Amino acid sequence: MPDLRNFNTFSGNTLDRAGNIRKSTEWMASQIKHPKAKFLPILNLTAPIQTKNNSKNIKYLNLNQMTNYKISYNNLIFLGIKDETPYFAFDISKSKTENEKFFDNVIFEEVRKAAMYLSNEDSSLLAHARSMVDWKLNNNFCPKCGYKTKSHQGGHIEICGNKDCNKEIFPRTDPVVIMLVYNKNNCVVGRQSNFPVNFFSVLAGFIEPGESIESAVYREVFEEIAIKVKNIVYHSSQPWPYPSSLMIGCIAEAENTNIVIDEEEIVEAKWVNRELILSALKKSKASKEDPLTKRPDNTLGELLLPPPIAIAHHLLKYWAENPRFFL
Ligand SMILES: [Zn+2]
Repeated sequence: MPDLRNFNTFSGNTLDRAGNIRKSTEWMASQIKHPKAKFLPILNLTAPIQTKNNSKNIKYLNLNQMTNYKISYNNLIFLGIKDETPYFAFDISKSKTENEKFFDNVIFEEVRKAAMYLSNEDSSLLAHARSMVDWKLNNNFCPKCGYKTKSHQGGHIEICGNKDCNKEIFPRTDPVVIMLVYNKNNCVVGRQSNFPVNFFSVLAGFIEPGESIESAVYREVFEEIAIKVKNIVYHSSQPWPYPSSLMIGCIAEAENTNIVIDEEEIVEAKWVNRELILSALKKSKASKEDPLTKRPDNTLGELLLPPPIAIAHHLLKYWAENPRFFL
């Protein structure tokens, strides 16, 4: 198996989340005032990217620039520390100050799009921030009693302000199984209705409560294409910040080959041989476009596969390049 730490996009977060010490209110207050602290403003779930000397980087604000915002312990999210520098994210969607001069040459970019050119380390930090900001924006009120919640531990827990309730709400991660299904020299690719013409990927679906990873792989494949699978193995995982999924990549062997699709889930599924997968992957690697946001118009008949930003690309690549493991 490959080295997994930086293998998938968004899987290369190198910040120390300081899970134990962030519980201390005093420590957290000292980090907010730390002279090296970096603050990441998030605007409508997009991230600030500054272009300078032909290079694109994340634009952080420093403590002085933060005086433009009404920030408090309650609306900052602590992301972690690196090189004695604490990193925080905060939402500016309701602020009027995103046009300040420190945003010269800055565009607010969709995290998935920024990941096409940033380092995996930076992309992973943005993914973490996007998921946390989205979670925080949706958890201002207690789901049990409706009372306003208050942020603790650097934004990693919201606690209901109603003393008779005190419900604690933690950030959530939604597990999704994404699986390559193969039989001898062929694997299954499927197309959802929102995919561009000729764009195919591997199958995927949410894990349900009370379900193991293996059970979810078996169930999803059978529901979507009526194929029974065996020999399910884990490959790697990828946080996917839309809004906070964890893609759990698996590879499974098909017991039968007659595909019957569930038309509510996908519009097309087919067997494709290893050689065709390898040549289509090469083209997807060369492309700098996100195929889900650009609809190709001159590629009729050509198989289009996900780019390296997607774990699906790496599942297909691993299977196609290692026939000895899967025959
Ligand atoms: Zn409550």
